Amino acid sequence: MDHNTPIAIIGAGLGGLAAAIRLKQAGYRNFSIFEKANRVGGTWAQNTYPGCSCDVPVALYQFSFAPAIHWTNTFPSAPEMQIYCEQLVAQFELGAHLKLGCEVTSAVWADANTHWLVTTADGATQVAGAIISALGQLNRPLIPKFDGQGEFKGATMHSAAWDHSVDMKGKRVGVIGSAASAVQLIPEVAKIAGRLTVFQRTPNYVGPRGDRKINPSEVALLMTNPVAAMDLGNRQRQLIFDNAEGFFWQAFSWTPEGRAAYSDLARSHLEHQIDDDVLRAKLTPDYPIGCKRFLFADNFYPALCLSHVELETAEIAAFDQTGIMTSDGIHHDLDVIIYATGFVASDWQWSMQVEGRASTTLDEVWRDGPQAYLGITTTGFPNFFMIYGPHTNLGHNSITFMIERQIDYIVAACDGLKARGAKVMDVTLAAQTAFFDTLQTQLAYTVWADPSCNSWYKNAKGEITQNWAGNCEDYAEAVKNVIWEDYVLG
Ligand code: NAP
Repeated sequence: MDHNTPIAIIGAGLGGLAAAIRLKQAGYRNFSIFEKANRVGGTWAQNTYPGCSCDVPVALYQFSFAPAIHWTNTFPSAPEMQIYCEQLVAQFELGAHLKLGCEVTSAVWADANTHWLVTTADGATQVAGAIISALGQLNRPLIPKFDGQGEFKGATMHSAAWDHSVDMKGKRVGVIGSAASAVQLIPEVAKIAGRLTVFQRTPNYVGPRGDRKINPSEVALLMTNPVAAMDLGNRQRQLIFDNAEGFFWQAFSWTPEGRAAYSDLARSHLEHQIDDDVLRAKLTPDYPIGCKRFLFADNFYPALCLSHVELETAEIAAFDQTGIMTSDGIHHDLDVIIYATGFVASDWQWSMQVEGRASTTLDEVWRDGPQAYLGITTTGFPNFFMIYGPHTNLGHNSITFMIERQIDYIVAACDGLKARGAKVMDVTLAAQTAFFDTLQTQLAYTVWADPSCNSWYKNAKGEITQNWAGNCEDYAEAVKNVIWEDYVLG
């Protein structure tokens, strides 16, 4: 491995772009970024539903090494996030490395040549000494099955595959789901729909978001004294980060007092925004806080109070040509049905086939659930590194923090290979198993392990394979150094 070794980065979302930037800064010249879509941004390019925005304050969500100045709000909109990704390409001169509209269909390891053979949808192939997969956890829309679904004559769409050609003005719209994506799009759809029915299966804990415009004095400081502005920004970032870390310990580990404090925050938000006792009861969760993603929204509850908006909590029984029938026998006439029903996340079947040593595929070794050492490497798949891989999702803090740490680790691994005169690193099964077992032991103490907890963090068997077990600082410590004894070099 040296600075000319070809490296394939798969995905041009925040993870893939940050990997490219850091590799470039470390002196690597021969890397390509493959992206299926025709523009960069990943989730921020894919999700174009109205109201889509980041639910982490931008001071913490933007990369620490690339603060931007164009933000209009403390919580940036999806279009602004996508522009940020474009700016990263321009600022760090990544254009020549980008392959847009270029979907990787397979990656096959060849032991004899110590390289990966990457094949794209157009049939072209390229060799790579290492692969950095930045496909993310949330890019395959989940559309649940309902009886009679195919009969519905109106328009349907998923939140992550928004159909902008559908005019919802004055229409009868149904939204299935009431979680992170739903709470953002419901207030916007309510502004134009003639009637809006929200089909909620489980209520969520929702707290105040407190979004605000970026203050002109903050912009002025940035323009006149960038050093002072940067210092202020870093202090804000640290404060938000520390608060978020506290949320992990108080709400996610078994601390009754912490749980109560955060539950009170959500309860008072609900009581403040909803007067109607019946509606409030429907929106009150009966499971421990932290179980599912805690949501931040100031306009969701008010939207539910509008006279043309209805919250339906009876189970969906079936679809028919003209709408949805709920289990209480009521038929809801609809023109449009929106699935805000999340993503296929826990099965870890990627759109590309990854074939490692002995022709074994990642799908085969992960059939009973994924295992990845530090969420980054998997035994039998040499020089295959993952960003935002299994075991690295969070419920309390910014994923960009995790991404930065993962990339530092991957660059250190590439540098370390070079320093050791080696070409190949493959994590040992013992190290991977020890990591996984320790993680599962720790996860057993989190709220997600509560039998009453259901979320996309768990797979069909009830195992928590998406999430990291601790706070972000723990992860930073775990990936601070490459433990070379945990790898077989070649
Ligand atoms: P989600 O959290 O998986 O929520 C899916 C919603 O659909 C839930 O309300 C769920 O109800 C409902 N649902 C699923 N199947 C159903 C069925 N068969 N019948 C009725 N209801 C059904 O998906 P999401 O809201 O798209 O969010 C996924 C993740 O994306 C989030 O956790 C977050 O990490 C990320 N996200 C981030 C942002 C951001 O601002 N950064 C914004 C949006 C999303 P149950 O709760 O009963 O399952």
